[in-house]
Amino acid sequence: MEALPEHTIAIGGLKDGSHRYQFPLGPAFFGRCGVEEFLGGEAEVDVTLEKTNHLIVALIHVEGHVDMLCDHCNAPMQQAINGDQRQIFKLTGEDESDEDELVSLDPSTNEINLTHYIFECISLHLPIRHVHPAGQCDPAVTEALEKVAVHHQPDPRWAALENLKNKSA
Ligand SMILES: [Zn+2]
Repeated sequence: MEALPEHTIAIGGLKDGSHRYQFPLGPAFFGRCGVEEFLGGEAEVDVTLEKTNHLIVALIHVEGHVDMLCDHCNAPMQQAINGDQRQIFKLTGEDESDEDELVSLDPSTNEINLTHYIFECISLHLPIRHVHPAGQCDPAVTEALEKVAVHHQPDPRWAALENLKNKSA
């Protein structure tokens, strides 16, 4: 997803130590994720940056919900998200690590943008299957699905016939 200016943090003059940032995410954010399944959403992102001389460790916490269609009844539902992600930025400019968690930055970098990592944190914590809590699906669809299920059960008359056949054998 493209970097959004509101998720840029100036690190140029940032002192060593712990820094906290909060980013509220609304429907506009979820609309720009490029994920067709996202109908909207609302979440709070809490970021703690731990800065030392050569490292910035970003602890990202996302809590809220994404509006999606239910996999069972296809009606809109709110999928809760609650997850953490850690991202490490190395300020040495040496790119010797293959680890995803570690990003190498040029020491003269003045800012970092967190949009990508926030989006990643949301994506990684979404369940593959999202359905309404039990009993909250669209009743019309539930009823229709139950009818189909009943239809696919073996016809009791066949069972009776089988019984007869077994008796006569
Ligand atoms: Zn449902």
